[in-house]
Amino acid sequence: MTNLLFDTLFGKHAGSPTPFLHLPDGTTMTYDAFLRRTAQMARALTRSGVAPGDRVAAQIRKSPDALVLYAACVQSGAVFLPLNTGYTATELDYFVTDSGARLLVCDPSDEAALSGIATANGATLLSLSDAGGGSLRALADGCPESFDTVPRDADDLCALLYTSGTTGRSKGAMLSQRNLLSNAEVLTDLWAFTPKDVLLHALPVFHTHGLFVAVNITLAAGGSMIFLPGFDVDDLIARLPRATTLMGVPTFYTRLLEDPRFTERTAAHMRLLISGSAPLLAETHARFEALTGHRILERYGMTETNMNSSNPCSGERRAGTVGFPLPGTEIVIRDPDTGQPVPAGEIGGIEVRGPNVFQGYWKMPEKTAEELRPDGFFVTGDLGLFDPDGYLTIVGRSKDLVISGGYNIYPKEVELALDEQPGVLESAVIGVPHPDLGEAVVGVLVPAPGQDIDTGAVMAALAGRLARYKQPRRLELVETLPRNTMGKVQKNLLRELFADSFA
Ligand code: ATP
Ligand code: MG
Repeated sequence: MTNLLFDTLFGKHAGSPTPFLHLPDGTTMTYDAFLRRTAQMARALTRSGVAPGDRVAAQIRKSPDALVLYAACVQSGAVFLPLNTGYTATELDYFVTDSGARLLVCDPSDEAALSGIATANGATLLSLSDAGGGSLRALADGCPESFDTVPRDADDLCALLYTSGTTGRSKGAMLSQRNLLSNAEVLTDLWAFTPKDVLLHALPVFHTHGLFVAVNITLAAGGSMIFLPGFDVDDLIARLPRATTLMGVPTFYTRLLEDPRFTERTAAHMRLLISGSAPLLAETHARFEALTGHRILERYGMTETNMNSSNPCSGERRAGTVGFPLPGTEIVIRDPDTGQPVPAGEIGGIEVRGPNVFQGYWKMPEKTAEELRPDGFFVTGDLGLFDPDGYLTIVGRSKDLVISGGYNIYPKEVELALDEQPGVLESAVIGVPHPDLGEAVVGVLVPAPGQDIDTGAVMAALAGRLARYKQPRRLELVETLPRNTMGKVQKNLLRELFADSFA
């Protein structure tokens, strides 16, 4: 037996002097150096009592050692559990308790605050800093630079990745080696990554986008990454000229477009710019193309499934869509209530089947049974439709669907109409409790900088455009929409904020 994920993504680079990471201080970490550090870390994990199958929870800053820890978990057969750096100690307690983590790795500055949580859960607490320090690193430094890779089966778990918690409490998605590897290989091929690619990496590494999509593809292709500590538009503009590819959330692209220093020349040499994790407005797509000549490639995925669909690398990238199902992945549109297929071209629940689909939710057998159908399709909770050419469009999440007076209202349709109105920068449409209608449509609007919105005029414009039941009963103005680190609009917060609108 081998360890397919380790051997295929990591092990094959052993001894390679090729750069893997270009770091902000101007230094480079080669594949060889990365793998030697990984072997030391794998040994340190074993010495800390981590056995194959044990969960290693990590709330650490983005740094090369954060990736080393991921690689070391794969090499030693542990289950990697990265956590959002924004979580408070109380939130962290849930993840450590829920996962039964054997080891909790934190930033050295958090050790005192988290020791109680670790002790209460019977977990060992060690630290890693973004500067290459911390108690786990010190332990690793004393270990040999070689390690006998622990054999794992393709169906063994290698990561427990919690969902972003946009629609409720985060759920632990159990991901197997096969889940990660199949997706990395398909995407490397589809997006034509090669050893020559230099990916500008400014995403967090605790989420599937920055961790598995970006890092696994780079490893599979044998390319390198300009590895930035986070998103900073100055940094991005400064480093773009040395990169060939960028993966970002939509905010990356809107922030670049807002900056006068970002011109056609900044991105002239780029091979590919990819967007995901949240909807990229068709308008952003068009503005980006008008300025740079590049058509951003939008793709669709989630914690539970890695990536599901993508616009083509060569071929028409259609704005406002998330493209075609990935090779090997099936996507069907079904009635969320009955599970029956909907007629072609109609909106329904997006369901996905393939080697990318996870093994179930950690310790949530009922939730798993609800969302993983007996025929293997995963009910994503997103709503969408295929156009006649086979492009998939997402119209929102089923939890965000507004049902008003018995009618279904898909927020995206109303948001697109609102976004076109004078003075509107962006919008979010939500349903809030209403005594007669059950729910009423509320449009939350963000004014463009320095502009006013005439809400009466907006209402009047929509009256001529949308059926009465889709028109917002109320418009609210806010300075910004609440977003999480991945750029997702937190509609649950908006629903709470405006819950009493019709009380
Ligand atoms: P939770 O499941 O805990 O509520 P979450 O679904 O936001 O959180 P993630 O797994 O990080 O957690 O996000 C996946 C979701 O992101 C998808 O289900 C989809 O709603 C959204 N998404 C991803 N890519 C796109 C995209 N290109 N366009 C629109 N939405 C997208
Ligand atoms: Mg989700």
